[in-house]
Amino acid sequence: MKVLWTLVVLTTSLTIGAQEYDLLIKNGHLIDAKNKLDQTMDVAILDGKVAEVSTNIPDEKAKKVIDATGLYIVPGLIDMHVHVFHGTRPDEYISNSYTSLPPDGFTFRSGVTTVVDAGSAGWKNFKTFREQTIDHSKTRVLAFLNIVGSGMKGGAIEQNLGDMDPKLTAIVARQNKDVIVGTKLAHYSGPEWAPLERTVEAGELANIPAMIDFGGSTPELSMDTLLLVKLRPGDIYAHCFAHVRGRTPVVDENGMLRACVKEAQENGIVFEVGHGGGSFVFEQALPALEQGFKPNMISTDLHTGSMNAGMKDMLNVMSKFLNMGMSLQEVVARSTWTPAVHIHREELGNLSVGAEADIAILNLNEGDFGFTDTRGWKIRGDKKLECELTLREGKVVWDLNGISMSEWE
Ligand SMILES: [Zn+2]
Repeated sequence: MKVLWTLVVLTTSLTIGAQEYDLLIKNGHLIDAKNKLDQTMDVAILDGKVAEVSTNIPDEKAKKVIDATGLYIVPGLIDMHVHVFHGTRPDEYISNSYTSLPPDGFTFRSGVTTVVDAGSAGWKNFKTFREQTIDHSKTRVLAFLNIVGSGMKGGAIEQNLGDMDPKLTAIVARQNKDVIVGTKLAHYSGPEWAPLERTVEAGELANIPAMIDFGGSTPELSMDTLLLVKLRPGDIYAHCFAHVRGRTPVVDENGMLRACVKEAQENGIVFEVGHGGGSFVFEQALPALEQGFKPNMISTDLHTGSMNAGMKDMLNVMSKFLNMGMSLQEVVARSTWTPAVHIHREELGNLSVGAEADIAILNLNEGDFGFTDTRGWKIRGDKKLECELTLREGKVVWDLNGISMSEWE
């Protein structure tokens, strides 16, 4: 009887042991910049969190096993620059209107699990944005708050100095500090520094970085002054490979990277891609990269004007940088851990034990591909990333080829 009882106890404990984890991803090549991992690893998940990362976790320990042989496992991607305050207000551009997109339809299929809205809402309509988009999206939605109280409604509304209040912007940022990670200035075309100074002041008051979509002024405001005097280390320079009227580009007319850009990056100013529908040209990106200037963060500037043009999606933008000479490790770091650090969300963008299990499993395809900029130029490349599977809090939210599913019998 005693022997039998021991056997029952032993069998029960083995059964429990066999199901220690909910999910196990086996044999994938893990790239985790925070933990300096770039090798074949297994990742186990329990209760929506990363439970173990090691070289050989037995299949029997998990209820479900995904074979990721030949694939890359990376932290869920962070797209630092999107516009997702979708709504149906006519003539209000990006703020609660048609130019913004609902995030879930554009994120998981590209391995993105966190997006950061770049100033679609201001302090006056942030509540609507929160209730309408943030609270109803499976994608984690964070935000930069526009210095314009009415947000990114376009036209004259974004030129109204009277609607740029650093104190009220900082108050709403603090009230929503679980989701607001910065302040934003965009589209201002007057000759004054005041909008920029107020955006930085709001950031200072709320202890968050400011993101600046600079320029559009006639005459142009000084890039040197912006980068070396006005911005604080940690502030973000948006659309770094744009060449548009009213904004000094990072590469000058002789193809040389401007000294102030290099110096600013060394000083801690953060440069993000923000590809968009008009903000990425090879004429800037190729010579800048050749001269050793790499963007700190890769991002899309997702909205209806970019998604069906040269930008396409996060993985297409990352692939573009791969084919311009950056390594896969650099490209992944600048789309995961680096943005997490710059928005002060170090719990994101990594697969440490205990982290939320936001994970992307990527395929690096080889072939003959074309990548276009926002001015109609194309480069060819032989590498292109594709998203096989995305997990958000340990749940499968995208599975291109059914690698998490059982074969039909
Ligand atoms: Zn934008």
